[in-house]
Amino acid sequence: MDKAILEFHDVSPLFETELRKALSFAKKFTIERLSLLVVPDFWGLCKLTDCPEFVNLLSEIRQEIVLHGYNHLGRAKLWQFLFTDGEGEFAMSDRDDTIKRVKKGKEMFDLLGISSKYFVPPSWIKNSYLEDILRLFDFRIVSYRWTIKDLSNGKVIFSPSVTLSNREYVSYWSAVFVPYFFAVFCRFAECVRLAIHLSDFRDEKKIGIWELMVGKIKNKRRFITYGELFG
Ligand SMILES: [Zn+2]
Repeated sequence: MDKAILEFHDVSPLFETELRKALSFAKKFTIERLSLLVVPDFWGLCKLTDCPEFVNLLSEIRQEIVLHGYNHLGRAKLWQFLFTDGEGEFAMSDRDDTIKRVKKGKEMFDLLGISSKYFVPPSWIKNSYLEDILRLFDFRIVSYRWTIKDLSNGKVIFSPSVTLSNREYVSYWSAVFVPYFFAVFCRFAECVRLAIHLSDFRDEKKIGIWELMVGKIKNKRRFITYGELFG
């Protein structure tokens, strides 16, 4: 059976209400394995270390944790404009800045006893230093919009991410096209990723689209995690 990963993006104490809704959503579809993409200090507004109750919640959830940048903020290049909204944290980072951000994220996880070998850069945007630096900090898997890479051996799996845009003027078109894209294109992928931003749980229209897609995919694919995908 083909596979799917259900991943919740931008997990932070700022989105605790939405995270709880997301977990209910997964439960409703009896999806037992999922990935949480955690941002240690979302937009510089909320450090995990300042929110022990939220960290407890994360450990109670007992799902795979993925490091998702450090603060999710950055400047994007012009061509990346379509894919991000000033949140491509690594888009314009030089080597030192990339090291600093990965190190801070990893250190905060270590401090809180959170262990993770998986990394997804915000907006899926990397730079030429990122993969080497992730290896330095003992990360094994990095994932992008279309692929997932095993940093230990260079193996790349084609795995498209389906997502709904957070920007209003693109959102309408997302709502119209994403389900079609999903149905036609993703049929041929070994593993499809459903990348649900927690902010989507503030929008009934988006929740409806996700229900439609998850309902369809559930009968055809088995939900797993990054760890299970790479064994
Ligand atoms: Zn994100």
